[in-house]
Amino acid sequence: MFCPRCGSDDEELIEGICKSCFIKEAKIVGMDDDLKITICAHCNSILNGIKWEDSELSDEELVSFAVMENLRAMEHVEDLEISVDILTVRGSNYECLVHAEGKLLGTMVVEEYKVNVKIVKNVCPDCSKFASGYFESVIQIRADNRFPTPEELRVVDEIVRTKLGNLSLKNRMAYVSDVAMLKEGVDYYVGSYKAAKKVAETIKDSLGGVMQESPRLVGRDKSRGKDLYRIWISIRMPDFQRGDFVEYEDHKAEVMSFDGKKIGLKNLESGDSLSVMWRDYGKIKVIARKHDVKTTSVTSKTPTSIQILHPDSYQPVDIDINDEISKLMIGNNVKVLEVEGILYILSKDQD
Ligand SMILES: [Zn+2]
Ligand SMILES: [Zn+2]
Repeated sequence: MFCPRCGSDDEELIEGICKSCFIKEAKIVGMDDDLKITICAHCNSILNGIKWEDSELSDEELVSFAVMENLRAMEHVEDLEISVDILTVRGSNYECLVHAEGKLLGTMVVEEYKVNVKIVKNVCPDCSKFASGYFESVIQIRADNRFPTPEELRVVDEIVRTKLGNLSLKNRMAYVSDVAMLKEGVDYYVGSYKAAKKVAETIKDSLGGVMQESPRLVGRDKSRGKDLYRIWISIRMPDFQRGDFVEYEDHKAEVMSFDGKKIGLKNLESGDSLSVMWRDYGKIKVIARKHDVKTTSVTSKTPTSIQILHPDSYQPVDIDINDEISKLMIGNNVKVLEVEGILYILSKDQD
């Protein structure tokens, strides 16, 4: 057989022509010379086919990456090396020079191509949800029989900001689309339910209270055949503060502390400590406030009782002794609380 291009008949034919004609005509790489990349103008994620993917690349890196992705090495090519240089940038158009080197049937071949890449800015579905105020969940900050205190609201705000900030590195939907100040508390509208739940748990761990979720059906995703819910997560902080007084089962007690898990109480009569889980919060009733505490003094003492003056009437009152108050001496000032006509000694006054 002879080569139909040059007539030579001393070489084996490749795809119907001789090797030197084949090398002259073949290309080592194939590519489109006009490319388009779609990225989200807000979060920089990139559209790959029909899927949006996170991207940390700069526009220049994206352009080089897109060119490389689009290149195909042709058959019989070995040791291919490619470099991409951006020659000019006009608006969102990048003119690139592709330099390709490789061996074609053992012969070194060098080729250069110009490729134009256009970056199209669009808005990814997550960002467009954000822009339209979309939310999956509402965190409701409430307090029993009162408005949350400024300090509580400050802590909540801080947690929402830092926790969502961290979560948003991995979850584009971890955003607050709205904050509503209501007469009973504050509502945070959150893009992602998962993120909202994590934030709410952190708030509860820090401030205590009772957390409750109530899903509401808002529609149906026909394409996936799934009901769509929005989930309201309420955190109800307690009626009481540290230093207030409550009744729990048959105990009258002072609130000593509370955290995300339990409430620490001190029995007024015996001075014993007890803790109550938040799930039993409903059984706790406030009976007096911190500011109801008064000061009086010890007027006499026997092995079984301590006598103090009633803080309002100045009448002597005898109180059964317990470990907590047994060290009191005549003349000591003490803090007392009156509940339903009964006086309780709380502690020795510090002064
Ligand atoms: Zn030939
Ligand atoms: Zn986006």
